[in-house]
Formats: sequence, C-alpha cells, structure tokens
Amino acid sequence: MKITALIVAAGRGSRASGPGLLPKQYALIGGEPVLTHTLRAFALHPEIQAIQTVIHPDDRDAYAAAVTVPELRLKLVPAVHGGSTRQASVRLGLEALKVIEPSVVLIHDAARPFVDTAVISQVIDALRSAPGAIAAAPVADTLKRATDAGFVASTVERANLWRAQTPQGFVFAAILDAHLRAAQGGRADFTDDAALAEWAGIAVKLVESSDRNSKITTQDDLAMAASRLGPDYETRTGTGFDVHKFTDGDHVWLCGVKIPHDKMLDGHSDADVGLHALTDALLGTIGDGDIGTHFPPADPQWRGMASSKFLAHAAQRVAEHGGKIINVDITLLCEAPRVGPHREAMQAAISQVLGIGPGRIGIKATTTEGLGFTGRREGIAAMAQATVQLPAIGPGARK
Ligand code: MG
Repeated sequence: MKITALIVAAGRGSRASGPGLLPKQYALIGGEPVLTHTLRAFALHPEIQAIQTVIHPDDRDAYAAAVTVPELRLKLVPAVHGGSTRQASVRLGLEALKVIEPSVVLIHDAARPFVDTAVISQVIDALRSAPGAIAAAPVADTLKRATDAGFVASTVERANLWRAQTPQGFVFAAILDAHLRAAQGGRADFTDDAALAEWAGIAVKLVESSDRNSKITTQDDLAMAASRLGPDYETRTGTGFDVHKFTDGDHVWLCGVKIPHDKMLDGHSDADVGLHALTDALLGTIGDGDIGTHFPPADPQWRGMASSKFLAHAAQRVAEHGGKIINVDITLLCEAPRVGPHREAMQAAISQVLGIGPGRIGIKATTTEGLGFTGRREGIAAMAQATVQLPAIGPGARK
C-alpha cells in the first residue's frame, strides 16, 4: 500500500490571526510554526511515504520558512497552491498527487498539530478493510437543540454522535473521483472530505481519537496549544575580550571596584577592562553587536562614564529578549594589582548590576609569568563568558 498524506494549509484562518498577521497555521507554538509540528507528525510516521502540502500563494515565504527542518525534507513533495474553498484546495492537492500513484491518501488539517502517531496508524489500519476511515471523537457533552429564541427545545440523544476530525483517509482513486465529480456537478459546499465521501457513497469507518487532536481555530486555541507544549528554553553563551593600557594615575577600576594602584588604565570611560569584556559577552548571547556598537568611543558623552552603565545596558538588552542570566565568568590577566583581596567586592558590584547572586559570578586572575604586554605591566587584559537562558517561544524565538 503506497500511503501518502495531504496537508491542507491554504486557509486564511482569520479567526486566530488577524489583520496583517499570518494565518494560524504559521503562528509559532513551541518556537515553531503550527504547520511544522503537523508536518513532522506525518514525516516521522514510518508508513507515510510522501507528503503533499496545499498552500495559499501569499504564504510562499512563510511556508518555505516552516519546512527548513531537516526531518521534513525526505518525504515532502513540492507544495501546490489551493483554491477558494477547502474543498477546492483538497481537489487540487489530490490532482497533484496523481503522478506518484498512491493507493491511499490521508487528508489532514494543517491546524491540527497534535495528531499522534497512534491515530495515524489506526486510520491506515482501518483503510486495509474500508475505502474510507476518519479520526473522530465521541461527543461527551449533553447536546441541546435550541429554539430561535435561545431556549432549550429538546435534548439530543448523544449515543452514536461523533465529532469529525482529521486525518481522513481514503482509497486514493475513489476520493479523487468523488472530488472531480463534485466539482463537475457544481457541489462546493462540503465542509470535510468525509461528507463528500458520504455523498459519493464511499463507506467511512470511524477511528476513535481525542480532544488532543482538536483544531486550532481561535487565539485562545493558539495560547492553549503553546502552553501544552510547555516552556521551551534554550541556553546560549557569549564571550568577550578587552585590553586597556596603563597611563599615569593612582587607581584602576576593575570589575566595578576602584582599587588604589600606581598607574591607571587609559580609556574614554573609566576603562574597566573586566566590565567591558563582560558587557561584550552578554551582548554576544543575543547577537547584539559589541560595546562599541552601543557606546561609540568617539561619542564624548561616554567620557569618564562608569562601565557599570554599559553592563546594565547589556543586561537590559538580554532582558528585552526574555533572557535570564545564568552565570558569568571573568578572568583578569595582569601582574598587578592583586585581585584576590577585591574579589568579593567585585562580585557584589556585578551582582548589584545583573541581579544574580555572587555564586553565579566568577572572578579569576592570572599573571602571564612576566611574558607579553601584561607581563611587562603595560596594561591589563580581560576575558569573560556569559551564559543565558532564552525562551524559544514568542517574539524573537529561535532568531
Ligand atoms: Mg574597553
């Protein structure tokens, strides 16, 4: 049995998106478009051999972005454009599938990303003995028929009532023929393929599914779908390196602490080499340039500026991305001054700016054994690393 899937993603879905926004099948949940989740469910199913997607021509770019994940590449055939109704879109998708001569096709809504492997398998199994089979959920609520005035007219017996979902699987030749006949006969009013199959006299078996496979229709559905996937974080690191040379003076600023010394560091700001390296490390975690991008050295307003301001700005940028600083680590390279006596004060100063505890702030120092410019006491070098946690959900996710 050559088994294919047809994913219907051409709808405009205005209820869950809105003006200027992409249709709901391209909204992000868990950091990925809804459609990507849906396609993955079929791509990873061992019995599905090819996947045809039907898209709206306006969504070409969004579609291209939704299918970049490698696990989708093997089974996806080039997408085709849909028609003005869902029914027309399915027919166009079926016609495109003709060239690969499938024996059965599973037609599925792009906006049902939580379809599970077991339901797909059960629909396929049912098709071994029936020309049609659909996922459906038994009706659990008591059903009321209403009067025009909004009163209960009667209670509907819910035994044997099901809510149709997708996938809806059919013998390929039979459903293609039914679609072509419906189109020729001017019938464009079928809301799902099972209704069209019913009209065409194709027997359709019900496969029990659950509410988990429900369709994302509204903004609330989207929010629920995102929360179902749970918080999705990713960890990022950034590094920084800086050097400042000594000049005449009586103190240096290192990691936010003023230390008496027989020289000072030269620079436009307070020349705090440790905080400069750390600022770059934080900016590095979000790909946001470096300290010079944000505070150009040629700009006189940064002259004599406390470098804690630069660090606070970088921390703010990370926070604007929804990021949380996990830890930072700085190594100072110099012969003097000695760093050890000031370590706790440095941790406290950085803790104050970043809002993380001193146990998350590494301050280390090393000499370079008298070698190089630091060994010759011409200046101080600093390296830093920062680790942050960023949400992979919502604006900016996975960018
Ligand atoms: Mg610097």
